[in-house]
Amino acid sequence: MLHWAHTSPMPTSLIRNATLLVTMDAERREIPDGGLFMRDGWIEQVGPSASLPQHADTVYDLSGHLVLPGLVNTHHHLYQTLTRAVPHAQDAGLFTWLKTLYPIWARLQPEDIRLSTQIGLAELALSGCTTASDHLYLFPNGCRLDDEIEGARTVGLRLHASRGSMSLGESQGGLPPDRVVEKEDFILRDTERLIDAYHDAAPGSMLRIVIAPCSPFSVTSDLMRQAAHLARARGVRLHTHLAETLDEEHFCLEQFGRRPLGYAEDLGWSGPDVWFAHGVFMNDDEVQRMGRAGIGVAHCPSSNMRLASGIAPVLRYLTAGVPVGLGVDGSASNDGSHLLGEARQAMLIARLGAALQPEAARPLMTARQALELATLGGAAVLGRDDIGALAAGKCADLVAIRLDRLEYAGALHDPVAASVLCAPVQVDRSFVHGRPVVEHGRLTTLELGPVIEAHNRAARRLATEG
Ligand SMILES: [Zn+2]
Repeated sequence: MLHWAHTSPMPTSLIRNATLLVTMDAERREIPDGGLFMRDGWIEQVGPSASLPQHADTVYDLSGHLVLPGLVNTHHHLYQTLTRAVPHAQDAGLFTWLKTLYPIWARLQPEDIRLSTQIGLAELALSGCTTASDHLYLFPNGCRLDDEIEGARTVGLRLHASRGSMSLGESQGGLPPDRVVEKEDFILRDTERLIDAYHDAAPGSMLRIVIAPCSPFSVTSDLMRQAAHLARARGVRLHTHLAETLDEEHFCLEQFGRRPLGYAEDLGWSGPDVWFAHGVFMNDDEVQRMGRAGIGVAHCPSSNMRLASGIAPVLRYLTAGVPVGLGVDGSASNDGSHLLGEARQAMLIARLGAALQPEAARPLMTARQALELATLGGAAVLGRDDIGALAAGKCADLVAIRLDRLEYAGALHDPVAASVLCAPVQVDRSFVHGRPVVEHGRLTTLELGPVIEAHNRAARRLATEG
C-alpha cells in the first residue's frame, strides 16, 4: 500500500484567524474568524479561533484568507495535457476530436504518462483541488496505470486512479483505431493486479483504484458486464462516459436498440457504486431512475461547451437526489485543469440552461451551490464521507485564498460568492491530510519549471512523430 502523504511528521497543526471559514458541514456553517485544529492529518475541532486550542506543533495564521474545504475533481484524463490546443482538434465535436487525437495518443510512452500526471495534478492543486479522480484508458508502448500513480506521488493529492480500457476497435465497429485497443482478458487481469497492488479502501485513503471501460463506442457489452462483476467482487467503484453527446445516443440506439442509460443498466451498471462522466442527454425518467439507484454524475461544463456537446440537467439531478460532482475533463477538451474555475463554469452554464428553458423564472444555480458541487458533491460521487467538508473526524483537506487580491477587489461583501463569481484564482495554501501542498501560491512538493520544460518537449514529440 502507498500512503505517500501520511509520512510527514506533523502531529498537530492549528489554523486560526481565517477571515471566513466555509465548513460545508451539516449546517453549512460559515465561520468568521474561523480556524481548525488537526492531528495526524485529521480534523479534531472546527470553530471560531477563540474556541480552539491555542497551541500546536505548527500554527498557521490565516488572517485575510478565505478557507474552503479542498475541492474534489471527479473526471479527468491527465495524459491529455500533452495534447491541448492541437490545431486540427480545436474546432471539432467529440467523435472527430477523438479520431484526430487517437493517433497522437497511440505514441504515448510511460514517461509521458508520468509527466502529464504531474502537470495536470499541479494545475489542479493550484486551483484548489485536494482529491483528483483520473480516467486513463489507453496504454500504448508499455504504458501502465502504475506510471500515473508514480507521477501522482510526487504531487501529493489524493488520487482515485481509474483502470480505463478500450477493446472495440474500428474493425469491430468501434470508434478507436485497432492499434490502441487491448484484449479483454488482459484488461481484467491487469485491473485485478492494480487493485491488489494499490487499492486502499480505508478512511483517509490516499489512493483508490476504479474500474472504468471508456465508453459505449469503445468497449464491448461483455467487457462492461464483466467490469461490473469484478467491481462488485472487489468492492471498487465503476466509472465510464455516458450520454455525453447526441452522436453517442444515436450510436447506442443503432447498435443496441437502447438509449445510453438503458444500455448501461442492462449490463449491471446501476447503483450507488457507479458514476458517469457527463450525463448531458438524460430525459426526466432517466434522471429519476438515476436518483433512485444512487448513480452519480461527473459534470464537466467546460468540456461540454468546448466540444459543443450540450448542457447537463444539473439542477434536475440535484432535485432527484443524484449525487453530482465536477470534472475538469480533458485536458484536451477544456483545455485546462482549473477546478475552482470549473465551479464558475458550472454556475454559468446552468444559468444559460435556465434561460433556454421555455418556462420563465427557473431557479438559478447559486455560487454556493456550485461550491457544494465542487466539495461535498464530488466526495459523494467518489463514495467518500471522509472528505468534502471541514468538520471533526474528516480529513484535513483544505485550501486558503488571500482576499486582498486584484480579482476580488470590490467583492468582499461576500467572499464565498466572490470565489465563484469573480475570475478564477489560484489558491495561496492547500493542505492534503494536514500536509502543506501549496504555500504562498507555490507547490511545495514539486519544482514545476523542469517538469513544464520536459512536458513541452514530450508534447512536441507526440505531435510531430510520424
Ligand atoms: Zn472524459
